[in-house]
Amino acid sequence: MSGNESKIYDYFSKNLISWQKNFGRHDLPWQKNISPYRVWISEIMLQQTQVKTALPYFERFMEKYPTLKDLSKSDLDDILKIWTGLGYYRRAEYIHKTSKIIKEKHNSIFPENYEEMVQLPGIGRSTAGAIMSIAFKKKYPILDGNVKRVVKRFFAIHDNNTSDKKLWQFSENLVPKNNNDIYTQAIMDLGATICTKKDPKCDECPVRLKCKSHKYNLINVIPIRGKKIKKKEKELYYLIVIKNKNFILMKKNPNNGIWANLWMPIEFRNRKGIREFLKNSKISKDAQCLEKFNHQLTHLKFKINIYFVNVEKFSNYDEFSWKNIYDNIATSKPIFEVIQKLAEEYENENDTLLKIKERT
Ligand code: SF4
Repeated sequence: MSGNESKIYDYFSKNLISWQKNFGRHDLPWQKNISPYRVWISEIMLQQTQVKTALPYFERFMEKYPTLKDLSKSDLDDILKIWTGLGYYRRAEYIHKTSKIIKEKHNSIFPENYEEMVQLPGIGRSTAGAIMSIAFKKKYPILDGNVKRVVKRFFAIHDNNTSDKKLWQFSENLVPKNNNDIYTQAIMDLGATICTKKDPKCDECPVRLKCKSHKYNLINVIPIRGKKIKKKEKELYYLIVIKNKNFILMKKNPNNGIWANLWMPIEFRNRKGIREFLKNSKISKDAQCLEKFNHQLTHLKFKINIYFVNVEKFSNYDEFSWKNIYDNIATSKPIFEVIQKLAEEYENENDTLLKIKERT
């Protein structure tokens, strides 16, 4: 590394650290009682998820599993219940697996070793780097989506073919010798609040004087957007069978595929399938369409049709379970939202009935 390069790296980390102390985020729940366990859970939750969405999930998670030891005694289904609505459910599975491994291999104490950490399910280089620097105060870089954007803009890297290996090198060079925990938090904060995807606030940026994208007016060009991948489209039909305005008939998905291990209403390929099912189950009513909506995952676009039937009796129990709609159900985000709406509607209905009763 040349003297000039080293000066730039120093400039970047020093300015970021003093900016973080004055303007960075300090009140996030995982910044209190910092421990490798809390940093790990927050880092996993924040993958593909915004801070404001993750906040209540983190609080609930810590309430239920305050320590790694508590978590290592958990069932996957219980973790999935807390995770419901947060999406990317594989993360919950990895957390579950990792907690068991740490219990067996490390007596439920988080390993203070980077090499061991990256062997654990769901912990990649960047997550391990964040844990090492924030919780153990060791000199390790991170490279999540936000950091990539900051690095690319600061050094004006507009070649989309720049390898991750090279970006990791930049990130590693930027980590200071001291205060690397504050630095890691600083670069995260900068990416999340100042050097944002759209409309970065360069006027408030602590490194704008040496930022090449700022200097050469490339802010709206970098990072260069990759080609949009056309998502596969799929139409799904779900039948919500409700009993006593309380229980919904659900089936647990297998351990692979989309929404693995989650409880889902009965799925059909088309409307005809629903009719046949009702006939075979000796339900004389037809199902009503409750709602239709689109739901997108990273590579898939679903058109979801929700059908609904209210029953008093239903004898086809073999592969299904009745789940209480007022309990936490480990289910997918779209189904979670449908169930929530349904539960609210029933609650409002009960309130109205109560008020009518009170008045009469
Ligand atoms: S000056 Fe603007 S583009 Fe450069 S790092 Fe700061 S916010 Fe990002």
